[in-house]
Amino acid sequence: SSPRRDFFADKFVSSGGKIPLGLKTKGRRIVVTGGAGFVGSHLVDRLMARGDSVIVVDNFFTGRKENVMHHFGNPRFEMIRHDVVEPLLLEVDQIYHLACPASPVHYKFNPVKTIISFFYLTSTNVVGTLNMLGLAKRIGARFLLTSTSEVYGDPLQHPQVETYWGNVNPIGVRSCYDEGKRTAETLTMDYHRGAEVEVRIARIFNTYGPRMCIDDGRVVSNFVAQALRKEPLTVYGDGKQTRSFQYVSDLVEGLMRLMEGEHVGPFNLGNPGEFTMLELAQVVQETIDPNAKIEFKPNTEDDPHKRKPDITKAKDLLGWEPKVALRKGLPLMVSDFRQRIFGDQKEDGA
Ligand code: NAD
Ligand code: UDP
Ligand code: UDP
Repeated sequence: SSPRRDFFADKFVSSGGKIPLGLKTKGRRIVVTGGAGFVGSHLVDRLMARGDSVIVVDNFFTGRKENVMHHFGNPRFEMIRHDVVEPLLLEVDQIYHLACPASPVHYKFNPVKTIISFFYLTSTNVVGTLNMLGLAKRIGARFLLTSTSEVYGDPLQHPQVETYWGNVNPIGVRSCYDEGKRTAETLTMDYHRGAEVEVRIARIFNTYGPRMCIDDGRVVSNFVAQALRKEPLTVYGDGKQTRSFQYVSDLVEGLMRLMEGEHVGPFNLGNPGEFTMLELAQVVQETIDPNAKIEFKPNTEDDPHKRKPDITKAKDLLGWEPKVALRKGLPLMVSDFRQRIFGDQKEDGA
């Protein structure tokens, strides 16, 4: 027999006859919470293409059925309208836990629902993550948390390495998100250490691409929609604050490598290409409309001054690095936004 088959046979015996998760490459059953959202729907596309059975769990708070509608009718695809704050009973091999309203407008609009209240314990990040960890524990599934670069707060270290503990204002306007994700990371590690749940943690940096919410208030979606609508691009503050923008397909590749790999993390998943908001506005002008105007607006409270991932760890241990530069990725998002805003081309979304 081939060396490859012997390798699998050895693994099979050494695992006591249980097929090790990483080796079971076909027909996995996978839950994606938040799978009708921006990142989740792209992840679902990749998992479906790979031949997995996928269950999307989403309450449509910020997600849309349209993002996954092209899988309706496929027997390997299921969609459940469910709030992860409520317990959930399923049998699967892997849980990608993305459910969380990710955009600033939504979390400022409804901070209690978005996150933390130790007393009411009703938030998505805390109770939702706890429920999904409880589910993972009961069924022996591997659990992946999509955390965020926001756990670094307004970082005093640049670029940010995973070992940095962050600089977060616990009582600020953004803290419902930052602290919620920090608690979700804590719960994830507690279930790992205390209940031997197999976990993975990704810290995602600003990501953009097709299917982003058009009016969610994030900078890339704002600028692109504004330029297309011939409105001025709203730069907050002096526009010298920086972010590093990652195209969604790079992120999805990183999430899948993390889930399949042997390392818990946390791993930074982001594109180290760093831009000021004024530079971003310039790229949007070049891509959409060189005559687009810029309008300065007061900045929001506690806005991080700079953010850029150190991705050495993901490069070394996951063999991952982003491939799509901002100037390559932005046009792909623009054509999706153009279709959705003007409806002048055929609906596709991908
Ligand atoms: P999104 O808002 O498009 O997707 C989140 C999905 O979760 C939506 O479909 C929403 O309806 C669903 N959801 C929210 N609360 C829920 C609940 N209680 N029960 C069930 N479903 C619920 O956001 P996204 O950009 O796709 O983000 C996905 C994940 O990645 C989030 O956890 C987010 O915190 C994380 N993340 C994203 C970015 C980014 O730049 N996009 C950056 C850092 C972290
Ligand atoms: N949980 C769930 N699905 C399951 C198992 C658990 O939603 O299949 C929820 C459960 O309702 C609980 C949480 O996950 O609120 C944590 O479960 P765990 O068993 O760890 O804690 P316990 O129920 O013992 O407090
Ligand atoms: N921002 C901006 N104009 C906008 C929206 C946001 O200049 O229309 C700025 C915002 O102040 C912040 C940066 O862009 O400095 C990134 O904001 P976003 O909400 O997209 O991401 P996050 O702050 O969560 O990294």
